[in-house]
Amino acid sequence: MVPAINNIIGMPRHELEEMFVSMGEKPFHARQLMRWLYGRSVLELNDMTDLSLALRERLAGQVSFALPQVTGRQNAVDGVIKWQLEAGLGQAIEMVFIPEEGRGTLCVSSQVGCAMDCPFCATGQQGFNRNLEAAEIVGQVMLARSELGEGDESAITNVVFMGMGEPLANFSAVVRAADVLLDDLGFGLSRRRVTVSTSGLVPRIRRLAEQSRVALAVSLHAPNDELRDELVPINRRHPIAELLEACWQYVDATGTRNVTFEYVMLDGVNDKLVHARQLARLLAKYPAKVNLIPFNAFPGTEYRRSPADTVERFRKVLMDSGVMTMTRKTRGDDIAAACGQLAGRVNNRVRTSLRNKMIGDMLQ
Ligand code: SAH
Ligand code: SF4
Repeated sequence: MVPAINNIIGMPRHELEEMFVSMGEKPFHARQLMRWLYGRSVLELNDMTDLSLALRERLAGQVSFALPQVTGRQNAVDGVIKWQLEAGLGQAIEMVFIPEEGRGTLCVSSQVGCAMDCPFCATGQQGFNRNLEAAEIVGQVMLARSELGEGDESAITNVVFMGMGEPLANFSAVVRAADVLLDDLGFGLSRRRVTVSTSGLVPRIRRLAEQSRVALAVSLHAPNDELRDELVPINRRHPIAELLEACWQYVDATGTRNVTFEYVMLDGVNDKLVHARQLARLLAKYPAKVNLIPFNAFPGTEYRRSPADTVERFRKVLMDSGVMTMTRKTRGDDIAAACGQLAGRVNNRVRTSLRNKMIGDMLQ
């Protein structure tokens, strides 16, 4: 039987070692291979000169190193870069690089679209097609690195799973990709510099605590269940109290410093002082920090951005209650690369009735 060709980009070290062992080879070849792939960006077996010729020939029949194709690139006036990558069947996903003083953040996608249906989010409004593979997630980081070149100011220091998709709905690929990002022989990023953002898939947060040690961000967006049921529909299954409990457990189990709560400021919807006070009550005395995100508009939305002074008053209520709160700068909005604007091209294949069933299945 001809062995299947296995794309090994994004494969964690322990899986690669198992692959070599199952081939009757020594596990240390995994380290050699990873150094070529991630340390030196070499994707040609022939150039991997510390692997014997015989081993390279064996590998040629069994593994590939395939990255998604870049199909478009836009540069924003503020230095943000957005790329479009092909995702099969005429579809596209997007990733965004955000340069800041002393750091560079790459925002990666985890799914083609998203099934969670948050009404203020361009990705959510596109529907859902499929999960990305670990190769397509780690592939984004590899592609961005090669597109950016080697300069210090263009280095990727942080990776955030805040592009298209709900990362915890694509659990195993995201955990495997994060493993490679953290591995010294992968990208060697510290655990504080890899952040998974979730809309609140509680059972998956619990499982993440067992399998990974990445930083956790949670899209809260509302301080009470009535409002959150509307803004983040997964809340109907896992309400705020349950979600927060899972967050504090995550901190205890993984030893991370805190959880970041994202809160998109929607004019007249969730930005009143009473909301700020409710939010402060939920989070004060816990290892929490808050990121207020100015709403970024997209075609067809009826939501509006809260005025800057409203955001500042909201922030002050939280700060006065002892909750560390930052207002996120909007970056890259002239090329629709800001939070919540990534749309790509998605063939939605989820009718609403199916969508609910899928969300149920995802939570098993
Ligand atoms: N699906 C994950 C991660 C992707 S989105 C999640 O929801 O957490 C990254 C952040 O941008 C999330 O907090 C998301 O709620 C927020 N966001 C979505 N649409 C937005 C918009 N139009 N303006 C500002 N932020 C938005
Ligand atoms: Fe999906 Fe996150 Fe957008 Fe909600 S905010 S629809 S979970 S990508």
